[in-house]
Amino acid sequence: MAAGPVVSTTPPRPADPGTPPQAIVPITGPLCASIQNVRVNIHYMLTTNGGGNFSETSDNYPASISTTLNGYTYAAALMSGCNDHWDLNPPLLLPPGSSLTPVPKRIHLTLNGVYFHRNDAARTYGSSTIWSLRRYLVDSANTINIFMQESALLGTGPAPTFNGGEATQISYSTINDRSLWTRVWGGWSNRMQPWQMAATVNHEVGHLLGLNHPHMPVPGWTTGICADAPANPNCWGLNSPAANPLCANPANLSNNMMDYNAVNYGVSPCQVGIMQTNLNTGLRRFVASCDPCVPVSFSLRMPASTCTTNIWLDGSGAIAAHWFDLTIERLGSKGVALSTFTTRVWRGLGREQLDTYVVFQPNARYRATVTGLSACSTALPATRSVTFMTDQNNPPCPPISSTGGRTALSDGTATSPTPTR
Ligand SMILES: [Zn+2]
Repeated sequence: MAAGPVVSTTPPRPADPGTPPQAIVPITGPLCASIQNVRVNIHYMLTTNGGGNFSETSDNYPASISTTLNGYTYAAALMSGCNDHWDLNPPLLLPPGSSLTPVPKRIHLTLNGVYFHRNDAARTYGSSTIWSLRRYLVDSANTINIFMQESALLGTGPAPTFNGGEATQISYSTINDRSLWTRVWGGWSNRMQPWQMAATVNHEVGHLLGLNHPHMPVPGWTTGICADAPANPNCWGLNSPAANPLCANPANLSNNMMDYNAVNYGVSPCQVGIMQTNLNTGLRRFVASCDPCVPVSFSLRMPASTCTTNIWLDGSGAIAAHWFDLTIERLGSKGVALSTFTTRVWRGLGREQLDTYVVFQPNARYRATVTGLSACSTALPATRSVTFMTDQNNPPCPPISSTGGRTALSDGTATSPTPTR
């Protein structure tokens, strides 16, 4: 594991006149006694020419490029890793001999969307600020946005030997008017597995849900500190860092999620209470469902234009999509469906050859809609659509018969193949 100490800072928030205060969302239902499924978006920040991070189609690692691992599949695995950690419930190491009974965290992350941005400055944490990423926020009133940044191109500069993160600060008194986002870095360039990045992501999400550092409360942030998560010398592990003699004493080692350490999966009862209180009040707008079932999530990809055969729909990075409903509509010039085909497919979502279901007309516009369904009975389903054209000679298509015609459509070009929601 390439990771060293997790570096996490929480900078003072500048004045932000651009975002009007959001209204407090009233609590309309009972408090959640089950698992709070918190919406997140994952954003990959790439170089302007599309390298230096996971892309839509590959891992972008020079010389050993893989298309199996891409931004979508990494995001899905990252969610699994994060949720595995949220499910862990270890006894706290501090204070030594703690008799506290761990309480379940009752939090999962659910993936709302995956996005890719090509901007050299925004890709690199040192040449951007967390505030400068505001322009990329999606659904920020209801979804935590997580930005995957890097510091250097693999093999072309001093790659970081650590991964890190930074979160927009919240405090309970102003929790209702804040968008929540975080940036983490080093995952791609350090070739960190998703479950390795998960600890950093969860630490930052812990900040966004109201938690401070036990070892080093953020200056000016007086909330989110718990007596049952005591101050400590912030050791990564035993004798680490070696320069700190306090880390030679096992009684100083923390396993708290909000300290920087190699096993930060522990959360104290007070810390659970802070997060749950916030998720039941001011942060309730970020909760997709209160449900032990994992909500369905996936992204849809396909070319914006195709020929009339070999039309493949790629349900990428699927989470809990055990079977799905597929609808294929031929669209008229006003976007109205001229014909509709619907079927339920009793298998997990993956790559689907659409022309095995319907005969596609040349030079026509279609919309494919997938609703992913989970075998867990109360899980939230998810629906995504893509719109595409046939026979736009990209790639070149076989000739059309003389009766097929080849007239321009009045409704313009196909829309982006990126996922819609
Ligand atoms: Zn932190």
